[in-house]
Amino acid sequence: MIVLYNPFSTTPGKQPLPLSLMALAAVLEGREPWTLVDANVLSELAPKRSLTDQEVAATLVARLKQAPRDESRLLAVTVMPGPQLAQAVPVCRAVRQALPDVPIVWGGYFPTGHADTVLGARYVDFVVRSQGERSLLELIDALKTGRALSSVGGLSWKDGSGRVIHNPVTVPTPLDELPALPYTRVPMNQYLHQTYLGRRTVAHNSSFGCPFSCSFCAVVAMSNRRWLAQSPARIERVLRQLVTDYGVDAVMMHDMDFFISEARVAEFAERIEKLGLAWWGLGRIDTLMRYSDATWRSMVRSGLRMVFSGAESASDETLRAMNKGGTSSAQLALDLARRMRDYGVVPEYSFVLGLPPDPLEDLERTFEFVRRINTERRRPL
Ligand code: SF4
Repeated sequence: MIVLYNPFSTTPGKQPLPLSLMALAAVLEGREPWTLVDANVLSELAPKRSLTDQEVAATLVARLKQAPRDESRLLAVTVMPGPQLAQAVPVCRAVRQALPDVPIVWGGYFPTGHADTVLGARYVDFVVRSQGERSLLELIDALKTGRALSSVGGLSWKDGSGRVIHNPVTVPTPLDELPALPYTRVPMNQYLHQTYLGRRTVAHNSSFGCPFSCSFCAVVAMSNRRWLAQSPARIERVLRQLVTDYGVDAVMMHDMDFFISEARVAEFAERIEKLGLAWWGLGRIDTLMRYSDATWRSMVRSGLRMVFSGAESASDETLRAMNKGGTSSAQLALDLARRMRDYGVVPEYSFVLGLPPDPLEDLERTFEFVRRINTERRRPL
């Protein structure tokens, strides 16, 4: 039994589909028995609140104990910094105490960037860095057959003396070659939400990685500037299924950057136009400013309502120091806000606040810049 565990990350009612674990479940389907424990959904145990750490640990232990003796058992945990890490630590410690023989593997942004630190914990045996689908299958095979752990791509592990070994990351699997997500095996009604976009908003992720290397961004360690994407045909197929089977009326594209390829987005927009969805995605300001008017019009026709972009700073010098790359500039952030106003799309900008050498001055300058953007955005056409 492979137990996939998504630690607590958000308040009940906002939980997105646990897409990373569902992608792992998809490759396990038909090969290994698996179950997914999401600490973010409401359960029969606690219908009105999130589970406590103790309740989550007890649930994981119970699921692992259900496995027949001859079945391999593994706890696979996805961990982001913040609340997920805060829960993953006590829960994994408790599982280790209750079931010392069950291997525990962590994957995701935090372990990928901090494998040595994570493996310093006695309750983590393995870290899978970067894309996890193939590595997880290889790890399970190694644990079952005694195959050398050194052959598992992207695995960090401890040898007999406790020394941490980092296997090289192998070439990632193209996303269209990965199987479809097992929507029927998760409580979909808990993952569809009322949002600005619609009444039944779902999360989807259509790509992996990003070709840029901003100095503050965890995506860089995860993808090493590679970018892999689902084809527009595949995204259309998935969204059509979500509309038909679950009555979805809006989608949030949780890609690290959805807009990297204009040709892909243009075809996607054309393909989903008839689905009647509203959608949201993350994209770089300079990339979106390069898009043609025809693509913008097509995106709007297909239901684009809001775009999240990292504007980061009001200072071009700071953008350079962050290695923001491309043609990023504060002026472009203003220009894009105006362009989106013309198309009726809401810009959602994020900033990194209080940067050196003068954090207070940086704060004031950034807030002033945010006010300017808001003024531009509201200026009548
Ligand atoms: S462009 Fe965005 S996703 Fe890519 S490295 Fe920079 S902050 Fe990260």
